[in-house]
Amino acid sequence: MTTPADTGTDAAHSPAPAPALAARTAKVGGSPVREILALTARPEVISFAGGLPAPELFDAEGIRAAYDAVLRESPQRVLQYSTTEGDPSLRAAVASRLTTRGLPTDPEELLITGGSQQGLSLLTAALLEPGDTVLVEDPTYLAALQCFALASARVVPVPTDAEGIIPDELDALVAAERPKLLYLVPNFQNPTGRTLPLARRQAVAEIAARRGLWIAEDDPYGELRFSGEPVQWIAGCAGAEDRTVLLSSFSKVMAPGLRLGWLRGPAALRRACVIAKQAADLHTSTVDQAAAARYLADRDLDAHLATVRAAYRERRDALLAGLADALPTGSSWNRPDGGMFLWARLPTGHDATALLQRAIAHNVAYVPGTPFFARHPDPATLRLSFTTHTPDEIADGLTRLGKALG
Ligand code: PMP
Repeated sequence: MTTPADTGTDAAHSPAPAPALAARTAKVGGSPVREILALTARPEVISFAGGLPAPELFDAEGIRAAYDAVLRESPQRVLQYSTTEGDPSLRAAVASRLTTRGLPTDPEELLITGGSQQGLSLLTAALLEPGDTVLVEDPTYLAALQCFALASARVVPVPTDAEGIIPDELDALVAAERPKLLYLVPNFQNPTGRTLPLARRQAVAEIAARRGLWIAEDDPYGELRFSGEPVQWIAGCAGAEDRTVLLSSFSKVMAPGLRLGWLRGPAALRRACVIAKQAADLHTSTVDQAAAARYLADRDLDAHLATVRAAYRERRDALLAGLADALPTGSSWNRPDGGMFLWARLPTGHDATALLQRAIAHNVAYVPGTPFFARHPDPATLRLSFTTHTPDEIADGLTRLGKALG
């Protein structure tokens, strides 16, 4: 047996406990969506839970060729440290895509980030003091709620309907709550798949200008439109030009494993984000940025996107075709024009979180809507993703869901 004398320690000299973790880390739980994904990783599960792009549609060959080219032609440059703002050719390529789509953008206005998630963290670091108020759509993207909670911000949900945030409700809340920031996902929102119409975007811009408000316009899904016409970014609406930060990403158009995104915003805020990024990671991977820029120069991303959109449209339609038989009578759901998600509501009294166990027992999964609400969850709601499985698998998954919920 070892005694304190043997080890040279005794009670008086035992190490003092390490200081506590920052209180904010205890306030922010892990992502329940990630926990569900872990439960549904078994290959026999047909999962409508994960927000995962279809992996068989990644242009792995094209991406490999782009990495090969930059590593062969300029290894010393692409393996070296680089600037925080990002690879000039990648910034130029993103600026040109935005300009072509109706939002004139200079490469200087862009900061390359580690996915749009990092854009959100940088913006939060640059803008929010503990206790500052952020308005969000109700429901909203879960990891945005985590990001704001980690910054000890106060999050206030703005009521929504089938078309997204309701401008009159927003106006009243801005007057009452004096928020610093409005965070919204105007195209094919996560989790609801809803798209904010132009008139509401213009109203949001007008409110931001009149009442003094920053807007974070998070748009990772905008290029995944299957039907209808693209709607102008809030960043381009009158009144919002000088106070909107547009965030987007290569995750849904190329591959999420690249962890590449970008932030477009006004100069002073962008400079603060650059400083926050220096403290976070100095810069995004030089070789990944160079390969993405090379891919955009050598390949036709729009042709690739046309393939992805066609496949996702088919998958959305497969989900819509079988939902009426799979969900209990009295359920409702929407028909998104793009993106990856559809939002459903079971009849009042049903609890999508409790029912998930039954679904998983039938080897099918979805994400309950509850964690996406900042304050008052609607337990009958759920998010269904339609991108990861083929139409036949979706049909099978819906049969299983019908058995589980029936
Ligand atoms: N914003 C929204 C609304 C999202 O749905 C996601 C991905 N799930 C992200 C940001 C983060 O994406 P990434 O960091 O891969 O660009």
